[in-house]
Amino acid sequence: MRRSHRLCPVSARLDPQTRFGRPSDDGRRTPQRPLTRMPTAEFRFYEELNELLPPLRRKRSFTHAFDGTPAVRDIIESLGVPHTEVDLILIDGRSARFTDRLRGGERVAVYPMFERLDIRPLHRLRPKPLRRTRFLADAHLGKLARLLRLLGFDTRYSTNLSDRELVASSVRERRILLSRDRRLFMHKALTHGYRLRATDPPRQAEEVLQALSLHGAARPFSRCMSCNAKLRAIARDSVKDRVPLRVFKRFRRFMHCSACGRIYWRGTHFRRLEQLVRTFRAQSYRSRERLSDQQSASRGTRKAHPRV
Ligand SMILES: [Zn+2]
Repeated sequence: MRRSHRLCPVSARLDPQTRFGRPSDDGRRTPQRPLTRMPTAEFRFYEELNELLPPLRRKRSFTHAFDGTPAVRDIIESLGVPHTEVDLILIDGRSARFTDRLRGGERVAVYPMFERLDIRPLHRLRPKPLRRTRFLADAHLGKLARLLRLLGFDTRYSTNLSDRELVASSVRERRILLSRDRRLFMHKALTHGYRLRATDPPRQAEEVLQALSLHGAARPFSRCMSCNAKLRAIARDSVKDRVPLRVFKRFRRFMHCSACGRIYWRGTHFRRLEQLVRTFRAQSYRSRERLSDQQSASRGTRKAHPRV
């Protein structure tokens, strides 16, 4: 089962009566029902946000009282979770903004950056991932790994890791595990991963960028496709004897990998990659437009949160 199913607000619905006292057996309200009560909302924090909560509030719904009609951001922070850690808030199952106000009786679900879950149909609070997005590609995804590196994403790739080692490395290094193998995602220890559907490497790269909303984060030719180290500019004179003469004559700017020494220039590969990124971005834009239209249609005049 895809974990995206967990997006559905699964926290138990709080019976409205339990919030303010159940009727007693004879039908009368219990005497402890407060005469002047503060509004309350039910909160549930997901994934690693739980680490920021006291143990009794982790991975469960709890009720919290507040004064007035505060912004949901202020309440989340008062509960110990900095808003910078939050990527998505659902209020009564609908995506909300930091500034949306609570009035009492809401169910609030708070999610961190989704590196695994697909939340495209919902508002994201941030235009790009909060944390550095890093990947770990399984042994069958060598071409995808090189492509992701060319797009600037830190991607580890190894052909000699067992399934268990892949999962352990993914967790230890906080890398999103990429694989087409459904069984890999059954490992309980795995926290971040994306199961690919496409088989063609460029389509796979597109799928990853699309699923994780990473189009804006691509930095073509900033990373060595061979060893994953970052590329740095290098003086043209110093590559004279290290590249073919025709390349030296034709190109002005060169990059080099300080780890493996490979030299890069804006040749055919670069143009193809740039075209690929442009295509990805255009597709992403079109899908966001469709999404925005769908959201507007389903929510009346409510506009989608601006995205970069
Ligand atoms: Zn290198």
